[in-house]
Amino acid sequence: MSVTSVINPATEEMIAEVPQTSAEEVDAAIEHAREAFLSWRGVSPGDRARLLRRFAEVVDAHQEELAQLEVRNSGHTISNARWEAGNVRDVLNYYSAAPERLFGRQIPVPGGVDLTFLEPLGVVGVIVPWNFPMPIAGWGFAPALAAGNTVVLKPAELTPLTAIRLGELALDAGLPEHVFAVLPGRGAVVGERFISHPAVRKIVFTGSTEVGKRVMAGCAQQVKRVTLELGGKSANIVFADSDLARAAASAPMSVFDNAGQDCCARSRILVEREAYEKFLQLLEPAVKDVRVEDPALGTAQMGPLISSAQRSHVASYVQEGSVAFKGSSPSGPGYWYPPTVLAPVDLSDRAYREEIFGPVVAVVPFEDEGDAVRIANDTEYGLSGSIWTTDLGKAVRVARAVESGNLSVNSHSSVRYWAPFGGYKQSGLGRELGPDAPGSFCEVKNVFISTGV
Ligand code: NAP
Repeated sequence: MSVTSVINPATEEMIAEVPQTSAEEVDAAIEHAREAFLSWRGVSPGDRARLLRRFAEVVDAHQEELAQLEVRNSGHTISNARWEAGNVRDVLNYYSAAPERLFGRQIPVPGGVDLTFLEPLGVVGVIVPWNFPMPIAGWGFAPALAAGNTVVLKPAELTPLTAIRLGELALDAGLPEHVFAVLPGRGAVVGERFISHPAVRKIVFTGSTEVGKRVMAGCAQQVKRVTLELGGKSANIVFADSDLARAAASAPMSVFDNAGQDCCARSRILVEREAYEKFLQLLEPAVKDVRVEDPALGTAQMGPLISSAQRSHVASYVQEGSVAFKGSSPSGPGYWYPPTVLAPVDLSDRAYREEIFGPVVAVVPFEDEGDAVRIANDTEYGLSGSIWTTDLGKAVRVARAVESGNLSVNSHSSVRYWAPFGGYKQSGLGRELGPDAPGSFCEVKNVFISTGV
């Protein structure tokens, strides 16, 4: 049996060994999930709702345990990890209302009436990346279960521990066996089998654009439903008329949160030329104030990167000549990397164009509104972004013009579980979250009933 050694990225110590699920075991789990679906879909909506609320309560009772586990496994700061465990609870609570609200429609047609039903798909496969192991799992499994599907979930090899614990807590909450199964293991084995197994009727994939394209191609073989939440290179657009002090004070955590390993990281800051120098002067102390330290400390704002390989990957983008200034990071064990600001940056530089997925941000000037939109859209990605201005009309114009799925104005907060989330262009396909998510885990069925004699 193969095992994965799970490493604490803040100490480089091994904290667990997790058996990898083999291809045969994946097939068996999918078969069990297929059988469990036949009864789970028949559980009355009210009872399914009660079970999901109970699952939320059990997650809540274990919030601190889950958070501490995430700190050790992923190097997330304890304050972030507490929020992440709480997000799973909140998303379960939110979607616990869905089983009783999966309404169809009735459409009058000549000679009768046409009824629309939303029917669950069957087994849903959820594939999770390592950067937000808990929330991204919950965004997939909660609406899928609410709609009456069963779920098989593959956590990332580097970060399986909280997902495994959530699988145990689901059973503690009374979810029937095989309704929600967590299968740790390799993408090339477990993930691939979710895609190729005909009983899995939908794939929810969050990860890199490169793997996402392969997932989409694999799903096409069976015309399998797929949602893709992929990479980003989001722009933080700062106009000269904005509250520059606020924009500069909040810019660091809009990209360095989770050590920059965030698909929504605002990793390109575009600043109107007349405010460019002033903005950099305000940004420098804010970056130097970011507390990069042991993520278990309540004061930590940023922890380590997830792995040695990720640190080498991030470092490959940083040429010393292009660094304007840096924050600090601990020395000694741990995959630390300091918050780093690149300026000026050539718009063809790979550090400017590619998703770095680390604490590195590029700051570039723009001339006017049209130039800002042109530069913001000059990327293959389109996930997130921010606009800073006191001119409301301009904020709305720019928000409409930027090709991106989730934007914020005078704020860096654009993800809410009760609003849809997803990307334009190569940042993804489809939307997660929001009130319509359970419907995306259903087939739509139309039935004509004749009223003729
Ligand atoms: P990744 O390498 O694409 O892996 C994502 C998941 O896919 C992992 O569980 C991985 O398993 C699995 N996988 C790998 N190869 C596979 C295959 N051939 N078939 C099926 N599954 C396979 O991405 P990552 O490095 O973990 O995550 C970082 C990326 O995720 C970034 O690009 C980030 O922007 C993106 N992301 C996007 C969002 C969003 O909502 N848009 C949110 C978070 C992250 P292994 O662990 O075994 O490799």
